[in-house]
Parts: sequence; structure tokens; C-alpha cells
Amino acid sequence: RESWASDSSDSVISSGSDSDGRLYKVILLGEHGVGKTSLARIFGGVEDCADAEEAGEGGRGRGAGAAGRCGCRGRRGLTVRCPSPAGNTYDRSIVVDGEEASLVVFDIWEQDDSQWLQNHCMKMGDAYIIVYSVTDKVSFEKASELRIQLRRARQTEDIPIILVGNKSDLVRSREVSVDEGRACAVVFDCKFIETSAALHHNVKDLFEGIVRQIRLRKDSKED
Ligand code: GDP
Repeated sequence: RESWASDSSDSVISSGSDSDGRLYKVILLGEHGVGKTSLARIFGGVEDCADAEEAGEGGRGRGAGAAGRCGCRGRRGLTVRCPSPAGNTYDRSIVVDGEEASLVVFDIWEQDDSQWLQNHCMKMGDAYIIVYSVTDKVSFEKASELRIQLRRARQTEDIPIILVGNKSDLVRSREVSVDEGRACAVVFDCKFIETSAALHHNVKDLFEGIVRQIRLRKDSKED
């Protein structure tokens, strides 16, 4: 397990904006069940709440508003900012390469089936994380469709996108190889990473990667 939330030099949990006064909107896209919420919750530092759920202390799907929803003080002694009442946006400042960056991660893609919301998602993001499950080929194909949709919606913009193959821990049920994922990212001109939300593997790298991608584009605009 990565000890992201426990590394105080690396993770300052707060709300607000970064040094240039911006709060970057990061949108999670992907099929149902690929792990978007799990990744967002790890980012939001609510994994202790999730653990509490397993211990039968309430939380997602079992009595929202209970232990897991509050601004709890997790096992690691960190006060975490829990999700909004809707439970699907997570804001947090993280320190990447010595500089603070503030992100709001939106896990709203599946909130309802409205075309309006999905169109809005495609337009509102400063950066995107397109997730598929390495155990589900259909979700991988869907990820390609989402990339195409995004390209259509934001034709002239060079937006940071990371393609994420989640559930890398499920070795025996893998249906999409690392090479296939990587090749897809090359075709779609985006970054690629495999993660395991279950093991917290590469989740920190994913969100740091998004910050770096945002900064790269910002710097090149300023030059
Ligand atoms: P979403 O519908 O995309 O938001 O997916 P969820 O985050 O709700 O995850 C769907 C299911 O997959 C849940 O039962 C999660 O516990 C499980 N899951 C998510 N990420 C992983 C992972 O990396 N490995 C494993 N083994 N299970 C995962």
C-alpha cells in the first residue's frame, strides 16, 4: 500500500487554490464498475472511511451520512475533507515537485443518465482521467470511445488526459494487457498508467501525473 495520506511532506490536505490561484477540475470518465469511485475516494483521503464501512460502521450504500461521510479523523490521525453531500466531488491540495496544486476531482460521470450532464462533463474539465478495468475488455473499448468523444468536444484544446487501466491486482482475470493499454494511449496521444485501487498501487502517481500534465501545458502557454 502506498502511504500517500500519511506522508505529511507530500500531502497537505486543505481546500483552496494553488499558487496561481487556480483550482483545477479533474473529471473521471469510464464504464460502470471500473473503479472511478474507488480512485476518487483514495484521492480524497477517505480510505479510512471505506475501512470503517467494511467494519460495518456505515458509509457508502449503507446509511449515507454515517461514519464514512463525516470529516473524520482517520486512523492515521489526519483530518480529511470528506466528499460533498452528493459524495462525488473531492477537493484537495497536494504537493507535487515541491509546489502545491489544488485539484477538485469529479466522480459524476454516472450520476444520472442525462445527456446534459455528460456533455457538461466533456466541457468543464481542465484534465481527464479515463478509466477502464484490465479485467474487462468492453470497458477498454468504451475508454477509446470516450477519448474520441472528448476529442470531438474539445477539438482545438490540448487537454491533459491519462488513460488508466485499473484493477491490476486481478492478475488471473486480466483481459487487457499492459501493452494494449500503452498502445491505445499512444494512438490517442495521452498518458497511460495501470493502477490498483484495491492495493493503492500507483494511485498517488496517477494524481501527481495529472498535476504535471496540467503544469506542462500551462508552462508552454506562458512561454
Ligand atoms: P465505479 O462504478 O467506476 O465508480 O467503480 P467502483 O469504484 O464503485 O468499483 C466497482 C467495484 O470494483 C467495487 O466493488 C470496488 O471495490 C472494486 N474495485 C475498484 N477498484 C479495484 C481494484 O483496483 N482492484 C479490485 N480487485 N477491485 C477494485
